[in-house]
Amino acid sequence: MFEPTEDQAALAAAARAFCEDTLGPIAREDDEAERFRPELIRAMGEMGLCGIPTPEAYGGMGLGYFEYCLVLEEIARVSASYAVSIAVTGLPQIILNLFGTEAQKAAWLPGLASGELLGAFALSEPGSGSDAASLATTAVRDGDTYVLNGTKFWITHGSYADVYIVMARTGGPGPRGVSAFIVPGDAPGLSFGKKEEKMGMRASPTVEVVLEDVRVPADALLKEEGFGFTVAMTALDSGRITIGATSVGLCQAALDSASRYAIDRKQFGQPIVDFQGVGFMLADMACRTETARLLVHKAAALKDAGRPFSHVAAMAKVTATDAAMAVTTDAVQVFGGYGYTREYPVERYMRDAKVMQIVEGTNQIQRLVIARHLKRTYGG
Ligand SMILES: Cc1cc2nc3c(=O)[nH]c(=O)nc-3n(C[C@H](O)[C@H](O)[C@H](O)COP(=O)(O)OP(=O)(O)OC[C@H]3O[C@@H](n4cnc5c(N)ncnc54)[C@H](O)[C@@H]3O)c2cc1C
Repeated sequence: MFEPTEDQAALAAAARAFCEDTLGPIAREDDEAERFRPELIRAMGEMGLCGIPTPEAYGGMGLGYFEYCLVLEEIARVSASYAVSIAVTGLPQIILNLFGTEAQKAAWLPGLASGELLGAFALSEPGSGSDAASLATTAVRDGDTYVLNGTKFWITHGSYADVYIVMARTGGPGPRGVSAFIVPGDAPGLSFGKKEEKMGMRASPTVEVVLEDVRVPADALLKEEGFGFTVAMTALDSGRITIGATSVGLCQAALDSASRYAIDRKQFGQPIVDFQGVGFMLADMACRTETARLLVHKAAALKDAGRPFSHVAAMAKVTATDAAMAVTTDAVQVFGGYGYTREYPVERYMRDAKVMQIVEGTNQIQRLVIARHLKRTYGG
């Protein structure tokens, strides 16, 4: 089940080779320096990795989320920061593919899919995170334009992105008052505040985005006024599969490192892997990794088949991100004192894993989604 075909395995192998050769040598240094290298996204774009599910007609690979997950897992095994970058530049593509007009797709998709352009998704604000429908950024119609004002917080690729999908209020309170806009990165009035100093994911820039009288043409509106919350939530449904795949990559990286170390490291005259306490820890790590992978692949397969997948994507996000936190924490334990130092990458995996439980809807919010699905299913 979910066994990759030869072509799918070849795509994953190409991604793995690129990541090991190019990201591997710099992953630790960039984590320490909090450095993001947009040129590496362009290089991945040249391999087709920035637009895997975008149709070929718009410069993508025209493949499915299963392939997307295989590739994200490979990138995350080396650098979760760059896996998140590929997933985030994918969010505007999901949105344009589903909701864009022909002109909007033609204007942005080829650049995003090829990696020439970098995309961002701007929903969160200082006062509205989980409660995204309470966002305060406004967009006011003025003739053939909209004028946007507000502050977006925590925006991945903020200041680097060529295009932002910005959710702003055009109507009354609540989700029905929210609209979605395409805002070019060089729009006058768009500026950037503080860059967050983070625990993990440090090679991924997270930046405050300020909109001061940013004027966009009326045709920058996606779909229609009041549709923006649906645009954002639909994108996040798919995005959660990519966060799950990134987390599976982190699990695998931690499991690989810990297993090798447990064979090499000797205490009391024998490899520590032969102590049942360590062997069982590795066994649990392997179980969590495989469970997470299966559920992420199931969510991807449902999406690729055009079947309802939101609740499974939520389950995959919770399961894979909780697994990543547990497996990376156990990897540090297997390494003992060495695991707590920067000499080995397992401490970075652990720091990177934490945010996966928070982004694209916290795991508490995912549990709400799953509970609501159960209530509907059982007639509540
Ligand atoms: C590194 C990073 C990158 C990010 N990138 C982006 C981005 O590119 N674009 C973007 O728009 N946003 C981005 N975010 C923001 C992210 O999506 C939010 O941080 C997240 O949605 C949570 O919002 P919050 O931080 O305001 O927490 P809050 O919503 O304030 O939540 C605080 C705590 O309360 C819990 N909680 C809240 N409501 C409920 C409830 N109803 N039931 C149970 N528990 C609840 C939460 O689960 C959490 O534990 C990013 C954040 C980080 C850290």
